[in-house]
Amino acid sequence: MERTFAIIKPDAVERNLIGKVLDKIETAGFRIVGMKKMQLSRAQAEGFYYVHKERPFFGDLCSFMSRSPVVVLCLEKENAIADWRTLMGATNPANAEAGTIRKEFAKNIEENTVHGSDAPETAAFEIPYFFSALELA
Ligand code: ATP
Ligand code: MG
Repeated sequence: MERTFAIIKPDAVERNLIGKVLDKIETAGFRIVGMKKMQLSRAQAEGFYYVHKERPFFGDLCSFMSRSPVVVLCLEKENAIADWRTLMGATNPANAEAGTIRKEFAKNIEENTVHGSDAPETAAFEIPYFFSALELA
């Protein structure tokens, strides 16, 4: 079993898509081991995306991620990290495969509905950034 970290981003929460995204997650066989709705502060968004701090889109990305609530999730499954990235689809929805969450719901390359850890080391940073051990069941 492997765990990964996911976010349902502000563009999706604003459009009342939480349930539709969770349905895809559960239908694909992930177990939701942690889940909460919250609004990130600007500083919390910057800390989460610090690996992108030199990128030109960093400021806009942190504004977007903190403008309204998100749902943060810890997901468990065999091969969870890679399988969640596959279900999400490509960063730019124009390049995303049919059947992926981003193909179906993302607005554009920035407002792309979901986040997912991209490697075991990333998941190991991101899960405890949001969840204490007692919040994972
Ligand atoms: P995430 O990390 O959110 O799961 P990702 O791994 O597919 O997405 P990254 O390259 O890590 O993509 O970029 C992080 C986020 O930054 C993207 O999901 C998107 O919201 C935003 N982003 C990435 N590239 C661009 C860009 N060229 N212009 C605007 N925003 C971008
Ligand atoms: Mg990423």
